[in-house]
Formats: sequence, C-alpha cells, structure tokens
Amino acid sequence: MKLKRGETWVKEDPFVHVLSQTERDSRCDFCFRRPENDIQIPRCSSCKVVRFCNRKCQSSAWSVHKKECRSLKRVAPKIPTDSVRLIFRLLIKLESDIEDVEVFGKKRNWADLISHVDEVQEDQIRLQQFMVLMTTLKSFSENVMSMPSVEELFVIFGRVCVNSFSICDPEMNPIGVGVYIRQIKPCSVLDHSCRPNAVAVFEGTTLRIRCVEPVDSEQDLRISYIDTLDDTTTRRRNLQQQYYFNCLCGECKDSEKDLIKFSFNCTSVECKGHVTQVPADDRFSCDICGTTVDDVNLNQAAEKAQKIIKHLNELKKQREHESIRMKGLSCVSEMRAILHPYNVHFIKLCDLSLDACIETSQWDDALELGRLTVVAYRFYYGELHPSVGILLFKIGKILSYLADREALQFLKQAATVLRVTHGDDHSLYKDLAQLIDQNSN
Ligand SMILES: [Zn+2]
Ligand SMILES: [Zn+2]
Ligand SMILES: [Zn+2]
Ligand SMILES: [Zn+2]
Repeated sequence: MKLKRGETWVKEDPFVHVLSQTERDSRCDFCFRRPENDIQIPRCSSCKVVRFCNRKCQSSAWSVHKKECRSLKRVAPKIPTDSVRLIFRLLIKLESDIEDVEVFGKKRNWADLISHVDEVQEDQIRLQQFMVLMTTLKSFSENVMSMPSVEELFVIFGRVCVNSFSICDPEMNPIGVGVYIRQIKPCSVLDHSCRPNAVAVFEGTTLRIRCVEPVDSEQDLRISYIDTLDDTTTRRRNLQQQYYFNCLCGECKDSEKDLIKFSFNCTSVECKGHVTQVPADDRFSCDICGTTVDDVNLNQAAEKAQKIIKHLNELKKQREHESIRMKGLSCVSEMRAILHPYNVHFIKLCDLSLDACIETSQWDDALELGRLTVVAYRFYYGELHPSVGILLFKIGKILSYLADREALQFLKQAATVLRVTHGDDHSLYKDLAQLIDQNSN
C-alpha cells in the first residue's frame, strides 16, 4: 500500500494507558485532557486520587479503574508508581478475554508478541526495576486480583518495557504512557530510524502514525523511538538501553553532523563556521576559515551547559518556571558567545528557557529564544517535523500577543508543517487555523 505525505497510517486507542503522576492533579485520568483556564477537575469520589472530566470519562475508565480504585483506597496515602499502575491495569485487561487483533490478515494475540525476555534478563537495571515492581504490585493487588506467576509477569514486564509509547500533549511534552496493541512487535511493521519518514502524534490518548514522506509500502515506514536531536552515541546508547538494538540507519553513519552538534563559535570576526575539536588533539579548529584555538575552557563551558540543562530539567518537573527562566536566560547569554547556535546543548538551553518565558508571559525574551531555536530545529529535524511545527506555532502566538504583523507569516508556516504532521482534523491544527483567521483580519 502506497502512502502519501500527510496521510494517516494508523489511528489507535490505547489498550491500557496511565497518566503521569506529575499530571495527576491537572488532567483527566482517562482522556488526559486539561481543562482551559486550569479549572480543577473533580476527583474520583471513592479513591480521591485520580480525576475525571465528567461521568462519561469516569464510566469509560471504570472497567479498569474499579479494581484500581479499591486498591488505591487500601494503600492510601501511598500511591504506586506509574509503571506499577500500568502493569496492574494491563493485568486487569488480560483477565478479561481480549479479542485477537488482525494484522496483515493474521490473527494475533497478546501471547504472540515479542518480549525480549533474554535481553531484559541480562539487564541489571531492568531486573532491579522488576524486583521492586513485583513487590509493590503484589501488595497493591492484594484481595483485588490474582497475580500471575513470576515468569509470566516477567514476560509482561519485558513486553511493556520495549513496546510502550510515551503519550505526549500537543506540545510534545510526555504526559503518560500507553500500550497500543497493534504497535507491538512483531505485529507492527513500524521500525525505528533516526531519519524517520513517519511521526507518532497524539490526540488525547489516541495515537496517530502519519507519513511525512511518501512511501511505497507500509513496510518501509519508520518512526523515531527517541529524540533525533541527540548525537549518534547518545541515540545509540538510548536505543540499546531501552529497546535492545544497535541502530545502523543512515543518520547514524553521518559523523559530520555529530561534530556540529558539539561545535563552538569561531573567534574570527564574521565567520559563522563551526569550531570542533581536532580528533585526538587538544586543539580546536574552524571548518570554514581554519582558525585553530588552543582552549581547554571550551569543553568546560560545554560541561557547564550540560549541568545546567540537567538542573533546569529537574526544576521543570517541579514547575519552577520563574526559576528556570532566570537561570536559563543567564546561561543562554553566557553560552551564546561560546557555543555555536547549532550546538545541541545550546539548543536545549534555549528550548527550556523559551518554555519558561512562555509560562511566565515574558514575551520579548520568548520571541528571541524562539527565533534562535527554530533555525537549529529546522537544520536537524528538517521542515516536516512536529517539533518544528509546534515551535513555529509558539512563535506565531507570541508575535500575535505582541500585536506584531509578522505573526501571520509564522502561523502560516506552522500550518504547512502541522497539516502534514498532525492533520487538519487535529485539535492543534484547528486552534492554529482559528488564530490564523483572527490574525488575517
Ligand atoms: Zn476526560
Ligand atoms: Zn477511584
Ligand atoms: Zn540511527
Ligand atoms: Zn572560522
């Protein structure tokens, strides 16, 4: 089956899903929606832990939440981790007879699906996680559900480890985890590439796999399981640790791009070249003018940026937007002189600071950071990538708040991207179309 650019290959609701604990008080546990103006959603009157928009969401969730609700009440005020909740919910679903799924004309069921048990068994970190999970799960399911044997549970755990999707909000922030049965290997043909031709986006908890490049057959579809902004070593390590394979895609063979990802600014006036470390040498040289620099401080600066990014990410989990904004902006202005605009640490710094500026309504700073980031995003992600479309939308929105006439131009560019990555029936695209209308008058 040929697929066109901007065509949806799959639309699928999760088999099981769980909202991240960090989102528990702001989103519906079933549909993951966050109400406008941050009005509080009512809590489940029984467990008082999860929240549901309305009766409809509550009753849709009930077949799974019913047992969970009883357990949550029993272990209160403790609440098990997201992964315990996910596996618990999966066990509830598996207790009831599940229908076989038809993939390529063949009936498949849960038992057919690959689990990577061998790899998981070799993985000390995963084993440790499993032991902890098993203990908590046992006490959580007491009197509510019979537990499978350790061996069975281990297979289920392995399957979830390699097959779950991180569910993202419209701005691509992870807000939960889901298992989509048609996407589980070997049911699914969907492999990974660091230079993908398809993307996974979400509308609520519904997964959409959309083509961003035309493909001759669905067997050729590739999405990226990880953030392709990272350098090859980091990407490969993440893929190996999480999915147990060694990526050999075209992007992984492009070592030139990796040099740029860690490059510094050239010291020659007006030169926009990338200064990178000469292999097995302390010196750095520019790829355009050839200027060499003997400067150990460059690597120190990069390390400092990395440390701050880590710190800002911690603050992000606690929603300390004002603190991120202050620290982020000061680090961006220090690093701007040293790190190349295409340096991934610099891009991540800008990105984190940008979101903090938006959260704290600091539009002028947000705009400047957005303009800096979008150039680098386009360079690495290409034009048709959800992150590029969303960033263009953010910039357009900021310009629109500032009543700047340039807004329309960015919003239209965002529309070109999001029409392909999300589709014109996606709520994000509809919001954008509305804003374009407002700015056209
Ligand atoms: Zn809901
Ligand atoms: Zn409840
Ligand atoms: Zn790769
Ligand atoms: Zn130069």
